[in-house]
Amino acid sequence: MPRTDQPAEFKNLLLATLPHHALSALRPHLKLVTLARGAVLSDADDSMRQVRFVESGVVSLVTEHLTPVVVATVGREGAVGGPTLLLGGGINFGRYEMLMSGSALALEATRFHDALRENPSFHSLCEAYSQTFFAQVLQNLACRKSHTAEQRCARWLLMCEDQIEHETFDLAQDSLAAMLGVPQVVADAVAAKLYRAGLIRLRARLVRIMDRRKLEGAACACYGTLRDHYERFQARACASGGEVDPDLPLLRC
Ligand SMILES: [Zn+2]
Repeated sequence: MPRTDQPAEFKNLLLATLPHHALSALRPHLKLVTLARGAVLSDADDSMRQVRFVESGVVSLVTEHLTPVVVATVGREGAVGGPTLLLGGGINFGRYEMLMSGSALALEATRFHDALRENPSFHSLCEAYSQTFFAQVLQNLACRKSHTAEQRCARWLLMCEDQIEHETFDLAQDSLAAMLGVPQVVADAVAAKLYRAGLIRLRARLVRIMDRRKLEGAACACYGTLRDHYERFQARACASGGEVDPDLPLLRC
């Protein structure tokens, strides 16, 4: 029986791929944590002592420069700390903080290593996720140098919608500036331009995507590239068995 502080079914894609017996063995060690927007999961140069399997919300990986820049986001497809521990370093190279509030299942690093060792398919899928995660980091860095702030804003908003799985989400103004790597005044102007074009609606901190097709047209090609990566990863997860619900979309097509 699941613990009362755990969901009956996991939304996290990595956990959902575990065979039933493996998931049952892991359940007593998973701790459900609620995470408010802005909560810091792990700081740069910290040792990664836990893996957080994201159940809902979005986590951002932020560089520790004078101007914070978001280089990657993690939704329910992934696990904060998983790629770091898998590679054997165990030390963060950035700060993980909640971009949008949500929840995660925390697992001690030693138990994560046990699960990797005992379940080759889980190990293989975590490797595939790590590749997808680092592909996102590289694509985001290249995107920042190659595409306009407006294109990148459209791309980030689409990715947020994909990861939060809702067309309306709470996004602080300073978060958008960090995602774009531009001053606040520039981020505000870019968002206002998308608003005037009827692509999004802004109310307080709430962003609502009004015309997804047009927003995709306004986004740079990086969105399609990253979506392809994640769709291949999702297909691999579904093919690996476990308890994945194929009807629960991770990324929209
Ligand atoms: Zn781009």
